[in-house]
Amino acid sequence: MTLQSFGVIGLAVMGENIALNVERNGFPIAVYNRSREKTDKFMAERAQGRNVKAAFTLEEFVASLERPRKILIMVQAGKPVDAVIAQLKPLLDEGDIIIDGGNSWFEDTDRRTQELEPAGFRYIGMGVSGGEEGALNGPSLMPGGTESSYQYLSPIFNKIAAQVDDGPCVTYIGPGGSGHYVKMVHNGIEYGDMQLIAEAYDLLKNAGGLDHNQLHEVFAEWNTTDELNSFLIEITANIFPYIDPDTNLPLVELIVDSAGQKGTGRWTVQTALELGVSIPTITAAVNARIISSYKQERVAASKVLTGPSGKYNGQTKDFINMVRDALYCSKICSYAQGMALLSKASQTYNWNLKLSELARIWKGGCIIRAGFLNKIKKAFNEDPALPNLLLAPEFKQTILDRQAAWREVLATAAKLGIPVPAFSASLDYFDSYRRDRLPQNLTQAQRDYFGAHTYERIDKPGTFHTEWVPIT
Ligand code: NAP
Repeated sequence: MTLQSFGVIGLAVMGENIALNVERNGFPIAVYNRSREKTDKFMAERAQGRNVKAAFTLEEFVASLERPRKILIMVQAGKPVDAVIAQLKPLLDEGDIIIDGGNSWFEDTDRRTQELEPAGFRYIGMGVSGGEEGALNGPSLMPGGTESSYQYLSPIFNKIAAQVDDGPCVTYIGPGGSGHYVKMVHNGIEYGDMQLIAEAYDLLKNAGGLDHNQLHEVFAEWNTTDELNSFLIEITANIFPYIDPDTNLPLVELIVDSAGQKGTGRWTVQTALELGVSIPTITAAVNARIISSYKQERVAASKVLTGPSGKYNGQTKDFINMVRDALYCSKICSYAQGMALLSKASQTYNWNLKLSELARIWKGGCIIRAGFLNKIKKAFNEDPALPNLLLAPEFKQTILDRQAAWREVLATAAKLGIPVPAFSASLDYFDSYRRDRLPQNLTQAQRDYFGAHTYERIDKPGTFHTEWVPIT
């Protein structure tokens, strides 16, 4: 029997598309799904004429693969991954490679690595970004695990990944759960980008008075610029002119304003808090989705909690340009936060992450793909130890040149009662980071007052405590 080169377990949207991508790139595949219907449907509708072997038991699946077996698990994250591994383990041989391509929590990946590697198996936790389309035509891949195991997979991954001007969008990320961690932060950055775009839309529509055709034109124009050109800006431009055939209205205005989330944004915020890294833009984006979900409460509140309204009273063209500058400055802050989180995680867990490489592999295939990532790659190439992206010469200059517009947009939003949580969080991040003195001297005094937590002084070394009863 001829053996297949690569196996995929899980034939939901991601699994079936990545399986077809692997096969199209010259690697015969075997597939298996827990419930038979998905496999039958896949074979009948998408695998015709392809070098795909369907298996209906895991025994059959494992027996159809050449050794060392390379098996990609693309099932729901969490317990299902453990269940699949538990069923697979007794069927595998030493040296076989299991790859978890789902959005797994990185500590689960560390735990699974520690269980599987001493037993003689190889384990790779791999972030996959790009959704359905990316999985089929070229995703961004973030594989973590033992580097020697990755060597067996790189010929396949180099081919199936998105291809950009400086190579395939895949690189060895680092040990253990690092690949899944990087994917999680990628998703956190994606939350930030999406919220910033939503705020720009709100401002342009409600303060600027732009209609859907004008919004389309503005975003389409921004998508041609070096700084904002990106997948998310492109799809945003395409969304505005889409007319609902039933009502003849722009479809976007008929969609309920309550955003869902699956958890990777929340995880990003949780781990940032644990590592002591400030990521206010990404946190604001997660919070914005949460408050958007209070739909009924907001509708009731809108009838009693009044506030200002109205339009921007200057030139529309100027306002559009100011919103563009505010969006770009905020985006720089958001990426600065994401990269700072990755840098701290790398130090904490000894991952040796290469931030310039991460920026490179996000240039294609994934949801945050953007021309702007070239600038980030360059900044970390020039200075791998850069403490914060805001200090890279190009980004520093951009913000210094545009901060007046950014501040004007925020002032306008405040005056008109338009919430801009991610724009504001970004400016606060910038203003806090650039200040040599913040008001936390008072916080320290309060902590010492009520809890004897002590404080340090600016004028002499040591640790001090004061009995704060005022000296009269
Ligand atoms: P999904 O909806 O997350 O999961 C469905 C698949 O999991 C089905 O094949 C299902 O099998 C299988 N499954 C669930 N519980 C199982 C169990 N206990 N044992 C065996 N199989 C089980 O699928 P998806 O959207 O394709 O995503 C797969 C993974 O990729 C997830 O971790 C997801 O977070 C991640 N991801 C998704 C996207 C996206 O755009 N969808 C993008 C990037 C990453 P049955 O058919 O038998 O129910």
